Amino acid sequence: MTATHNLSAIATTDDVVAELRARSAFVTVSHVKPDGDTIGAGLALGIALKRFGKRVHYFCQDAVPRNLRFLPDSGLVSSRLPADLPADALFVFCDMSDPARAGDAVAHVARENVLDIDHHLGNSRFGKLNYVVETECSTGAVVMHLLRGLGAPIDADVATCVLATIMTDTGGFMHSNTSPEALELAAELMRCGASKERITEEIFLRKRVAATKLLGEIIERMHFDHDGRYCYSYVDDAMLARTGADGEDIEDTVNVLRGQDGVEVAALFKAIDGEIRVSLRSNGRVNVQAAARRLGGGGHFRAAGLTCNGTLQEAFQAVDAALLAEGL
Ligand code: 5GP
Ligand code: MN
Repeated sequence: MTATHNLSAIATTDDVVAELRARSAFVTVSHVKPDGDTIGAGLALGIALKRFGKRVHYFCQDAVPRNLRFLPDSGLVSSRLPADLPADALFVFCDMSDPARAGDAVAHVARENVLDIDHHLGNSRFGKLNYVVETECSTGAVVMHLLRGLGAPIDADVATCVLATIMTDTGGFMHSNTSPEALELAAELMRCGASKERITEEIFLRKRVAATKLLGEIIERMHFDHDGRYCYSYVDDAMLARTGADGEDIEDTVNVLRGQDGVEVAALFKAIDGEIRVSLRSNGRVNVQAAARRLGGGGHFRAAGLTCNGTLQEAFQAVDAALLAEGL
C-alpha cells in the first residue's frame, strides 16, 4: 500500500455500503497505541456487520488499553490475523491518515482489499475506497453514516462504542470539534442505550495512583518558552519505573500542559523504549498538524503527533523549529 500523488476521490456512502454488503469477511484495523476512537470505530462497525451474518475480526498490533476494556467485543481484539481468512476479506482501517500507523502485520494487504475510514486532515487515501469526512469529530461518527446507509440497528453495544469515539476525540465534549452535530449524535446514541456514565468513569475519571504520581513528575519538569506561549515537558523510562506508571497512564497529560495560563501550544515528549513520541496540542492559533507534518507526523489542527529520532535535546529543538515555522 502506497499513497499516490494524485489523491483518489472520496468514496460516497452508497459506494462504501455496497462494498460492505458485497464482502463476507472483514478485519477492522486499529492503529498502534490505540485510543477510544480507533478501537470504538472498529468495534461499532464490526458488531453491526456481525448482526448481518458477516465474519468479523478485530485487529490491533498493540493491546487494547485498560481504560477501553469495558467496550463490548474489546476482548476479541487481537494482534494476530486468522490463518483461514478468505482472500477477499476487507481490511477496514479506522482512524489513521497513513496505513503505516497500523503496524507491520497488515502492511502486505492489497489496496483492493482496503477500506480507509477516517476524519484526519491530510489522509493519504490509501484504500480502494477512502471514506474520509474531515468535518466529523471522530471516526466513529464517520462509521455512523455507513451504519445508517446499511440500515443497521443501533443497539446499546454499537451506541456505546460510537459514543466512546466521540467522547474520546472531543475530550469529553470539551474540544472545539464538539459541534452541535456531535452533541446531537451523542444524544441520539444515549437514547439508543449508550452508557455515557460508564464511558466518563472508565475513560476520563478513574486514574491509577501511579498515573497521578507520574503527572506530578511531568509537571515538575514543565518548561515555558516564547513568552509563556509554549509549554513542554517530557517523560522517560526512569520516570515510569520510579512511579510504576506505563505508557497508557500518559494519555491526557499533554492537555494539562496546554491548559496552563497563557499557553497556546504544548508538547509532551515521551522517550520510552528507545523512541521519542511527541504529542502536540494547540489552543487553535498555531496549526500543530502542519508542524507535526514537517517532522513526518500528522493529526489535526489542534492535536497532532510525531516520532523523533536522536536525543531528547534534539527532539526539543526539532519540534521548537517546526512550531516556530508554523507561527508560534
Ligand atoms: P496523540 O498526541 O494523542 O498521540 O495524537 C494526537 C493526534 O495526532 C491523533 O489524532 C493521532 O492520530 C495523530 N497522530 C499522532 N501521532 C501521529 C503520527 O505519528 N502520524 C500521524 N499521521 N498522525 C499522528
Ligand atoms: Mn480520531
